[in-house]
Amino acid sequence: MTHRPEKVSSALAERELDLLLVSHLVNVRWLTGFTGSSAAAVVGVGGDRVTRRFLTDFRYLSQSQEQLDAAWEREIVQDLLEGVAAGLPQEGAVRLGFDDETMSVRTHARLAELVPDGVELVAAGGLIEDLRMVKDAEEVQRIRAAALLADAALEQVLQRGLAGRTEHEVAFDLETELRRMGASGPSFPSIIASGAHGALPHAEPRDVEIPDGVLVTIDWGAQLDGYASDCTRTYATGDIDPRDGQVYALVLQAQAAALAAVRPGPKGREVDAVARSIIDAAGHAEHFGHGLGHGVGLDVHEGPRLSKQGETALAAGMVVTVEPGVYVPGAVGVRIEDLVIVTDDGAEVVSSLPKEMQFVA
Ligand code: ZN
Ligand code: ZN
Repeated sequence: MTHRPEKVSSALAERELDLLLVSHLVNVRWLTGFTGSSAAAVVGVGGDRVTRRFLTDFRYLSQSQEQLDAAWEREIVQDLLEGVAAGLPQEGAVRLGFDDETMSVRTHARLAELVPDGVELVAAGGLIEDLRMVKDAEEVQRIRAAALLADAALEQVLQRGLAGRTEHEVAFDLETELRRMGASGPSFPSIIASGAHGALPHAEPRDVEIPDGVLVTIDWGAQLDGYASDCTRTYATGDIDPRDGQVYALVLQAQAAALAAVRPGPKGREVDAVARSIIDAAGHAEHFGHGLGHGVGLDVHEGPRLSKQGETALAAGMVVTVEPGVYVPGAVGVRIEDLVIVTDDGAEVVSSLPKEMQFVA
């Protein structure tokens, strides 16, 4: 990850910032490799004004030494903000970017009091997040590993069946299996939603037995080596209502069409529109109320957005989900989600489980 500070330096120059304070821990991790719970970094533009400060407290003295490369100047401080301010240029005009998306109003006020007079605090939220959208080979490998682990965990759970167990039991079984296989945990609370409950896109697992002859939506992911995976499959627990079969076929068709549109170039909203137009044409426009997908990395939900608001053009190295759904209130819900790497000339689907309708009793 030695190239990451250089990328930040280039982005600083574009925004005419002298320094960036990185305070959001996920961003600190991306930038430095540090995985502890208390840290900040200050990065400068390149050239003769290179700054690579890393600040943490005494608990992380040895961990930070192991995890950071020598380019970082490590400072062990009692108070991160005081430490940051003390090391800033005490004279001259300095534009210091801070993360206005994650820094609390209280912390900002304190920082403003602590910094030298010449320092101007400039909102720079999203600067690191924009860089995080494009993954390097090591990150892609970690996401791939998380996805394969998650798939293997669900396969184990499905062998024990769905019908007759409660949604909550299946969720617990899945999360246990994820950990047993080496994940640090699920990347988000698993969704197990059967029958009409599947019409809630973010359904919480209930203490309700999964019946025969319904669809069950399972949305789950693993967190492994810091990186997340995200996938959804919808299973049938026996012969289903033909109406449910039609909805399934429609979502599968929309998902395949959207996948085929993933490559460098199109904006997120253009890929979203591919799936949406198919679902709209089938009369289900109002039943697909969420975006088509999102980026996945250190966070399970990050940029870019594949939705009506998605103005970011896809680029090689982005990792995104493609997850259309149709939710008919009181009746049925289907979502099919793959994790996808944008490659130089197209896309590679990482999710390995079949998407043709699977029957799991
Ligand atoms: Zn998902
Ligand atoms: Zn998702």
